[in-house]
Amino acid sequence: MSSAPLTSTPPPLLPAKSKSPPPHHPLLSHLPHCTSLRSLAQLHAAAVKAGLAAHPAFVTRLLTLCTAPGAAPAHLAYARQVFDRVPHPADAVWYNTLLRGYARGSPSSSAAAEAAVRVFARMLEEGVAPDTYTFVSLLKACAAARAGEEGRQAHAVAAKVGAAGHEYVRPTLINMYAECGDVRAARAMFDRMEGDCVVSYNAMIAAAVRSSRPGEALVLFREMQAKGLKPTSVTVISALSACALLGALELGRWIHDYVRKIGLDSLVKVSTALIDMYAKCGSLEDAVAVFQGMESRDKQAWSVMIVAYANHGYGREAILLFEEMKKQGIKPDDITFLGVLYACSHSGLVSEGLQYFDDMKDNGTIPGIKHYGCVTDLLARSGQLERAYKFIDELPIKPTPILWRTLLSACGGHRDVELGKRVFGRILELDDSHGGDYVIFSNLCANTGKWEEMNRVRKLMNEKGVVKVPGCSSIEIDNTVHEFFAGDGRHPKSQEARKMVDEVIDQLKLVGYVPDTSHVFHVEMGEEEKATSLRYHSEKLAIAFGLLNTAPGATLRVVKNLRVCPDCHSMAKLVSMVFNRRIILRDLNRFHHFEDGLCSCGDYW
Ligand SMILES: [Zn+2]
Ligand SMILES: [Zn+2]
Repeated sequence: MSSAPLTSTPPPLLPAKSKSPPPHHPLLSHLPHCTSLRSLAQLHAAAVKAGLAAHPAFVTRLLTLCTAPGAAPAHLAYARQVFDRVPHPADAVWYNTLLRGYARGSPSSSAAAEAAVRVFARMLEEGVAPDTYTFVSLLKACAAARAGEEGRQAHAVAAKVGAAGHEYVRPTLINMYAECGDVRAARAMFDRMEGDCVVSYNAMIAAAVRSSRPGEALVLFREMQAKGLKPTSVTVISALSACALLGALELGRWIHDYVRKIGLDSLVKVSTALIDMYAKCGSLEDAVAVFQGMESRDKQAWSVMIVAYANHGYGREAILLFEEMKKQGIKPDDITFLGVLYACSHSGLVSEGLQYFDDMKDNGTIPGIKHYGCVTDLLARSGQLERAYKFIDELPIKPTPILWRTLLSACGGHRDVELGKRVFGRILELDDSHGGDYVIFSNLCANTGKWEEMNRVRKLMNEKGVVKVPGCSSIEIDNTVHEFFAGDGRHPKSQEARKMVDEVIDQLKLVGYVPDTSHVFHVEMGEEEKATSLRYHSEKLAIAFGLLNTAPGATLRVVKNLRVCPDCHSMAKLVSMVFNRRIILRDLNRFHHFEDGLCSCGDYW
């Protein structure tokens, strides 16, 4: 932003103080070498003695040094102290420099936004006119701190001085509203735009992706091309994330071709987004091909590839890649460790996983909730349920319901109803609104014959008005994503899909398929009713629809919003064998590759 030309800066309300020509004082030439706070303070003291402390040239250079990219927060605080002691600072550049420093600050620092707002307030008090740079930095600081209220006020001032529609300010406004969770305001800003602007499109597409509206993002992406606007790397990275969210592989492939055509495929960030898109859309082969074709790779590219292997159940490959990365001298960070821990937990490599968890702490990387989640999963899957309980209970940070949920599922798998009851209690303390928890625990009770307990849970669920999230599966066919919901007929073609499910199940019965009703929640249902409710689960509808509408032998790629249930899992295994299809199903937790009657998850998920 700093090298961009300023096109419509309002004239300052006050002329900048006439500056005496910058003295070629030796102190000034020393300033850039003060990389430590200590040396900076020493130099500053010398400047005070020499009467230079408030000299514009000195202040400008000191502010610039302390707010440079990569400067430590302590430097920024120091710059602020120096600035606060200048009586009536009248140079807009000083304010802008400080604001830019705050805008670059750590992403979640609300203190930075507050400080930025105070600097801005002083600017107005001193009668210094803000310009477009001021608003860009101020809004970025608000966005980074998710300070929506402050952002809105900044917007109001920008509108008043006529800067809100400026080509640099508008995208920052869109981004600020999106970051602060107000996508509507972001969209309103975008829709008010006159003329076409790539940066505003980029901001709006990113906003749509961030707020889980991938469809809207892709509509904007197409609209942009129809208008003849040339997408940048930022645009394609967002569009690829949208494809990843939707599981829209064909569209993702189309974007890949397009990226090659416009010559953006050599950028590391674009390649990384491609790897992520291919992996999340179920094509690990394509992800690997992009990774191998990269000329240089940064830490993020390695991490994304490691996570991709992990999610697809290729634990060994993920670990090999992790070791390879370290060999090449790239230091793993929290994300890379997360990838390798995922890999271990998804592949049942218990001792390796626990070892990596220790390595992580030795590496100086502080584990976050997701790392703890992997360790919980590792312990739980190896049957060390009590140890997992103790692990969560003694965490240095407050456990989330998700951690307990992981353990609750494992209790279900290991039929440990006693521990399951304790874990269920811990979840309810934190969050009693998640229907899935009641279902898992009540199934556990049902499977172990604890009918009284089960009735109690069901009653509780009714009292709290908790509802199950409806299952939804989508499948992409000829660039159109078709969504199916469990049981209902919302999809216009769901009658067709239901009929196909009936036919498929008839065929599967011939090879021994028996509906597994043990996980059906509605206990008052008879066996037949239970089988019917299972029969039209969303993933079954999507798979049947795929069988019906694709060429024989084509791979089916299905995305599900919840974990796949055991019955649909065994149905998919049989379909892969009987109909000779590869099925790649992404559920809430991981990928399942069904082929020749087997699944890559080894029936543990
Ligand atoms: Zn199912
Ligand atoms: Zn599976």
